[in-house]
Order: sequence, then structure tokens, then C-alpha cells
Amino acid sequence: RREALTRLRKARAVTLDGERVRLYANIELPGDVKAAVEAHAEGIGLYRTEFLYMNRPQPPDEEEQFRAYARVARALAGKPVTIRTLDLGADKQVDGHGRTALTANPALGLRAVRLCLHDPALFRPQLRAILRASAIGKVRIMIPMLSSQDELFRVLDLVEETKSSLKRAREKFNPRVPIGGMVEVPAAALSADLFAPYLDFFSIGTNDLIQYTLAIDRVDDAVNYLYDPLHPAVLRLIALTLEAGRKARIPVAMCGEMAGDPRYTRLLLGLGLKEFSMHPATLLQVKQNVRASDLKSLARFARRVLKTPDTHAVHALVDEANEGSD
Ligand code: PEP
Ligand code: MG
Repeated sequence: RREALTRLRKARAVTLDGERVRLYANIELPGDVKAAVEAHAEGIGLYRTEFLYMNRPQPPDEEEQFRAYARVARALAGKPVTIRTLDLGADKQVDGHGRTALTANPALGLRAVRLCLHDPALFRPQLRAILRASAIGKVRIMIPMLSSQDELFRVLDLVEETKSSLKRAREKFNPRVPIGGMVEVPAAALSADLFAPYLDFFSIGTNDLIQYTLAIDRVDDAVNYLYDPLHPAVLRLIALTLEAGRKARIPVAMCGEMAGDPRYTRLLLGLGLKEFSMHPATLLQVKQNVRASDLKSLARFARRVLKTPDTHAVHALVDEANEGSD
């Protein structure tokens, strides 16, 4: 089995009925690119830049960030890298920066894009560094934790402002760098159609989407038995986001753990997901599932799952689909 997986590395991620699926890798540090390239990922679908800020007293300056992003962009040799802007706060607290004082509910607090908009002095150097790296490779910007249109507009304004300042300084960047938003707050999934006209792509962050939809702290072991990617509410929000993307003709990816769990590949394909981003270690298994899938029958299967009210029955249906195809 292992040998078969290794041989899959160079195989294309295409379904039995010829649909092309894109499999990307998630990385946390530039050094992780190697594993992504070895797994033949189509690029990086999620670069968690906050890891550059953690375990140190001072945030990295623009130059240090530029070097890190440029290194990743270069190592990918023309394949895209989706650089997610800083997602600090909640489960990724920083010590020493003095910005994320512990609050009662950090996951609901000043986190990710909220923190960045609250503190433009923290955000601007990152935007400059990402934009500069866009002159070196195929860089895309991704905004975490969007929950309102207004927030998105404020980010887009800052990006424009940063571009103008780079232009004045004669720094190179890609003026048309794609900007996408993460859908990981239920509000964003429910109003994805309102975000879509202003974005180049969506990426569904199921780790947080599940946490916020089901009101389950993702790091609290006591409630982890309730953490269920197949909860009907979660599946409906995923389906809504995919529909909004289809209508607005922008691609929808998924970069939460659900995308890298081979148990869910068939259901996600059936719901219409075409771009998966995951830890490189699970990429070949997911590819194996993609290549064994018939999209048309999976679409029928997904419609049936969406109509199934009871979670146990949903799990049974998904198990059955996986057993039948193994
Ligand atoms: C997610 O929430 O699904 C996600 C990909 O982001 P993170 O796990 O870094 O919060
Ligand atoms: Mg998240």
C-alpha cells in the first residue's frame, strides 16, 4: 500500500470522470516547503505566517518577513503560495509582544485580522513584505477570520495604501496580487455572497468554522467529543460557501484539517470542492481517493447527506461511501 502511495506522487489528481482537482500543502515555516514539494503539491494553499512571530520577544521586521516569504516563493519555482496574514491570538498567543493580553474568551477576542486592523503598525510591515515577495513568485494574500464586509474593505484599503507606498519607494510587486478570504466564522459563510465580489478566492477554514458553529473550543479536550465536521450545520455552511463561490465564479478551497482527512474526500468532492490544502503527509492518500472517485455519483451522495437530519446517519453514509470504494 505504501509503495502504491509513493507511485502516486507524480500522478495527477483527476477523478474517474476526468475532473481536475487541485491538492495544495499547508506550511508553517519556510523549511516546510521541502515536504510540500516532495509530495508534489500544486503549491501552498495555506502558509501560517504567525509561526514566524511566535516564541520570541519582538515581531519580525519587514526585511526578515520578506526574506522568509521570498524564500518560499523561490523554492516553489512558479507554483503559487497563499500567504495568510497574521493569525495571532486565540490558540496562537505570543509572549512578550504585549499585544495579546489574556482575555476570558481569546478565540472571540482581538485575533487575526481584528488584531491587524487594530494595530496597523503590526500589519503594515507584513503587507509590505508579502507584496514585495509577489515580485519573486506566484504569491497570493489570504485574510483570516473575516466576519464582516467592513473589515474586508479596511484590509483592501490598507493593501492599496501599501502598494502606493511601495510604488513611491520604487519597490517591485505584483499589482494584481490575488486576495482571498478565509471562511472560518459562520458569519462569513452565511454572507459569503457579500464578500465574493471583492475577493479572488475563498478558503474554508474548517478548524475554526467547526469551533464557532458548534460553540466548541477547539483546544478544550472536555468538549472535543462534540467536535464534528459532519454536523449538518457545518456541512450546510460549507455548501453555502461553495455555492457563493460558484455564483461569483471565484474558486473555493478548503485548508482546515477536514480537507486533509481522507475520510471526507468523497463527501467534499460531492459537495463541489475542487481545491484541497492539507499537511503534506496526507496528500497522497487524498489523491488516491480523488482518483478513485466518480464526481457525478458523489454529487448525488452529497445531496443525500445534506438531506439527512441525524448525525449518526450522516456518519454511517460517509463510512459506507468510503468502504464501498476501498
Ligand atoms: C482553520 O481554522 O481551519 C485554519 C486552517 O486555520 P488555523 O487552523 O490556522 O486556525
Ligand atoms: Mg483558523
